[in-house]
Amino acid sequence: MAVDRLPLPGFVTAHSHAFQRALRGRGAGGDFWAWRDAMLAEAERQTPDIVREEYEQTYRELLGAGYTAVGEFHYLGLDEAYAALEAARAAGIEIVLLLAAYERGGLARFRQGSVAEYLAQVEALREAGARVGLSPHSVRACSAAWLSEIGSYAEREDLVLHVHADEQPREIAECLAEYGLRPIELLARTGCLTPGTTVVHATHASAAELDLVAEAGAAVCLCPTTEANLGDGFPPLEALLEREIRLTVGSDSNVRIDPLEELRELEGTARRETGRREVVPVAQLLAIGSQNGAACLGLDAWPDAEVDLAHLSLRGVAAEDVPAALVFSCSADVFHA
Ligand SMILES: [Zn+2]
Repeated sequence: MAVDRLPLPGFVTAHSHAFQRALRGRGAGGDFWAWRDAMLAEAERQTPDIVREEYEQTYRELLGAGYTAVGEFHYLGLDEAYAALEAARAAGIEIVLLLAAYERGGLARFRQGSVAEYLAQVEALREAGARVGLSPHSVRACSAAWLSEIGSYAEREDLVLHVHADEQPREIAECLAEYGLRPIELLARTGCLTPGTTVVHATHASAAELDLVAEAGAAVCLCPTTEANLGDGFPPLEALLEREIRLTVGSDSNVRIDPLEELRELEGTARRETGRREVVPVAQLLAIGSQNGAACLGLDAWPDAEVDLAHLSLRGVAAEDVPAALVFSCSADVFHA
């Protein structure tokens, strides 16, 4: 190892939709739902060949930015799932394929005809040697019956389960109308809230929902640059930290690919919310960006990232101050690809 290189545990994007990288500079629109229309049009365009080619480039971009493992939350179809795995292999990034279950809504290509068909797809990927996780897309896309089946399969097979929840107020209103429960309450009721669960976003989670997450020992994945870009709202950071809920981060829409920016945004939000500084200590922030993400994906080993200590943005920074300088003062170009 050269003296001007510092190895760090590689960053992990625990929540990525690699195809959304293609929306850079586009995907405008007045709110989340308008953006979603542009996203759906991009999703419709995807083929296994496009996924194979484009995901490899996006995964190379992730690697160049210090991310060495990705949780790919995939809802484009089974053939495209295999293509995503090939792309990751070609790029050299660790991947856990979080295959989305999609019962209703969205595009026809997202949906399986039954929960049995969905679980058969998961089995096929596992038999092909892929590391997989269960991912009921959301309470919008999966009914309580599907959630229960998927929750018990995850438990039985000891697989991680990732699910979007409480990203937008409308999703909560619809869930309340359908079940008289909020999304995370429904997840708990259907066996989808366990230590193997990662709730993605939880932006508008109530105190009672966060209590359920804490009691279950589940994790929450925040995607600060995407949540800012989409106007999702502020994550309830103080409430998450008070409950000692495990946190991780995701590059999500990949509108930005920079783990340091995700962590800086997270801590910056916490500082604005609390009026204090060092709300999350630097060592803990770095763990949120790396080890916590790996744990959420069920990964035991993943490659290191390497900091370029000769980078201009670290000029004059003492060795012991490098971790804090990374989080508060550097961009992802500080990493060796
Ligand atoms: Zn997502």
